[in-house]
Amino acid sequence: MALTIGVDIGGTKIAAGVVDDGGRIVAQCLRPTPAQSPERVADTIAEAVRELAEGRRIEAVGLGAAGFIDETRSVVRFAPNLAWREEPLQKKVSGLVGLPVVVENDANAMAWAEARFGAGRGESHIVCVTVGTGIGGGIVLEGSLYRGRWGMGAELGHMQVVPEGRPCGCGNLGCWEQYASGNALVAEARLLAEADPARAARLLEIAGGTVADIEGPEVTDAAREGDPVALAAFASMAEWLGQGLSDLAAVLDPGCFILGGGVSRAADLWIDGVRESYARNLTGRGHRPPAEIRLAELGASAGLVGAADLARWR
Ligand SMILES: [Zn+2]
Repeated sequence: MALTIGVDIGGTKIAAGVVDDGGRIVAQCLRPTPAQSPERVADTIAEAVRELAEGRRIEAVGLGAAGFIDETRSVVRFAPNLAWREEPLQKKVSGLVGLPVVVENDANAMAWAEARFGAGRGESHIVCVTVGTGIGGGIVLEGSLYRGRWGMGAELGHMQVVPEGRPCGCGNLGCWEQYASGNALVAEARLLAEADPARAARLLEIAGGTVADIEGPEVTDAAREGDPVALAAFASMAEWLGQGLSDLAAVLDPGCFILGGGVSRAADLWIDGVRESYARNLTGRGHRPPAEIRLAELGASAGLVGAADLARWR
């Protein structure tokens, strides 16, 4: 049984785990991310890896990080939450732990884990969309993770879907994640509540009376109680998600879509809307087998498991 270690480098915590070749986590540990001193992150990763490698034969280490990773899976060119620029993470960590190391984009790692061990088992063409504060993406084509020429493919959240639309953190206007993510859900709910506070009575009550205090959990709670504005915000997000998936199907023709990320915890409030919007917008509808839209199965550990498994493919 070949073991590798996967590390999920988050903005607040670093989760590391020993993973077997069936995608099972056999041991894990958690450390706070030294976010104030990005140069110390490699040391913290190395400490976690050493702890887990103690008494075990480890083949390789896979690191998953949010950001642009170069095509050699070595350098983090740009990481939004850790202030990394051209960070030679592979070299640093490999030097510290004495094991082969690869670096992967976190959304790609999640997609790979779902493709191999989760909701995409048995499918060779998969598009994975992680709906959190923004939108992350991962694409598996013909059984391989698609990274693009320079390692920067599958940034699905930054397709510009609205000309001159809402400003995005990436510097462009109208990106998909400004309409179909958790942040978009909150933005839409606030806009609607501001325009018609009476209609948003329950939502505003839950949020303590202030539009600016409406966040994701408030929208979710209010939607469950039937608040029309909260439900409309979910419907809008679902509509945009379905449209985006139909565009992706037009380009990639996957066998299935997998939706994950924090917002999918409330999937019962929006998944039907996504499926309806997708079916309505799909090009060639009625003349093609529709890709199934599934929910991710591996939860928060997908990034760690995927990074560990991708470390086997060197
Ligand atoms: Zn963008």
